[in-house]
Amino acid sequence: MTISLRGLTKVFPGGVRALDSLDLDIGEGEFFALLGPSGCGKTTLLRTIAGLETPTSGTIAIGGADVTALPPGRRDVAMVFQDYALFPHMDVTANIAYPLRIKKVPRARRDAAAAEVAGRLSLSELLGRRPAQLSGGQQQRVALARAIACRPKVFLFDEPLSNLDARLRLEARTFLKRLQDDLGVTTVFVTHDQSEALALAHRIAVMDAGRIAQVGTPAEIFRRPATTFVASFIGSTPMNLLPGTVAGGTLRVAGAVLPAPAGLPDGEEIVYGVRPEYADLSPVPRDDAFAGAVTVLENLGTSTLVTLEGGGQDGDLLVQVVVPEGEEPPVGTSAWAVPHTGRALVYHGDRLAGPV
Ligand code: ATP
Repeated sequence: MTISLRGLTKVFPGGVRALDSLDLDIGEGEFFALLGPSGCGKTTLLRTIAGLETPTSGTIAIGGADVTALPPGRRDVAMVFQDYALFPHMDVTANIAYPLRIKKVPRARRDAAAAEVAGRLSLSELLGRRPAQLSGGQQQRVALARAIACRPKVFLFDEPLSNLDARLRLEARTFLKRLQDDLGVTTVFVTHDQSEALALAHRIAVMDAGRIAQVGTPAEIFRRPATTFVASFIGSTPMNLLPGTVAGGTLRVAGAVLPAPAGLPDGEEIVYGVRPEYADLSPVPRDDAFAGAVTVLENLGTSTLVTLEGGGQDGDLLVQVVVPEGEEPPVGTSAWAVPHTGRALVYHGDRLAGPV
C-alpha cells in the first residue's frame, strides 16, 4: 500500500509544532526510514500515520484512501513499539494471536495462524513461554510476529531494535531486512541510528524540526546531502564544513585555493563540505590543501581519525581526515589536508551547488 501525506501539521497543546506542513509519498512495498535528531518529530509522524495522534491539519491516505478521520483499528496498520508492549501474563501463542482474538477469529484458526507466523520467525520452540522467560531478541521477534499475524497493509516500527545489545542488533537487523523483503509489506520505521537507516531502508527521510530536510536512497543521502544540516547529520564521522568565498573562478576556503562549481559569481559566500574519508594528508605544503597542526589521533580500528587545528584566515580551522592505520602523522607535526577531486560538496544559500 502507498502512503501519502499532504500538509500534515501537528501542534501539541502548549504550542509545540511537532509536524510542520509535511508532504511525503511512500511507495508500495517500500522499506522507509524516518531519521533525524531527537525531538524532530519522527515518533509523532509514525503515531499520526497509525491514528494514535490526530493531526491539527493535513491529510493521510493509505492505498489511495483518505484515512485521516479513521480510528487506528480501521486503518489496517500494525505498529511495533520500542518496548514491544507484550502482555506479561500471556504465553507467546496468546501474545501473537491477541489481535486476531480482538477481531473475533475463532481460537483454532488464530492458534494455527500464530504457529505459522512463529515458524517464520524461529519462535516455534517458545510458544508456551511467557515474555519474562524470553531474551530481548526473542521478545522483539514475538512483537514482530504479533504485527505480522494480522496481515496488515502497513507496518510501523518505532525504534524496533533499540532495546537489543550491539551484537543482537546486527543480527536482528539482517533478520528484519530479510523479513520485509519476504513479506513485501510497506514498512515505515523510526530510528535515530543512521547506520540502521542506511543499512535497512530503500529510502530515507531526514527530518529537521517537524519538516523533511531530504528524501532519498541511502546512497543519495550519503553522497549528495541536500543541505548542510543533512550533511552534518549523516556519516559516521561528521563532514568537515568550512566557510569560504568565490574568487576568480576558484574557492578560497581557510587558506586553500580550490576548484569552484560552475555558475557562482565572485564574492559569494559558500560552505565547503568534505568527509574525513574523502581527504588525504600531505606532509608538504600545497595550495589546494588545509594547513594545520596535528592535535588529536583517534583509533577507529582499521583507520585513524586525525584532527588538524590552526591555519586558516580566522585561525580557528578544524579539519578531520581519516587515514589508514599506521599512516597517521605524529601529534604536534604540521600536515596539509587535500580533498579528493569530485568528492567535496559546495553549499550556496544552504543548497547543494555541486560536487567539486
Ligand atoms: P526522539 O528521537 O527523541 O524520540 P522524535 O523525533 O521521535 O524524538 P517526537 O517524539 O515526535 O520526536 O517529538 C517531537 C516534538 O513534539 C518534541 O519537541 C516533543 O517534546 C513534542 N511532543 C511529543 N509528544 C508530545 C505531547 N504529547 N505533548 C506535547 N509535546 C509533545
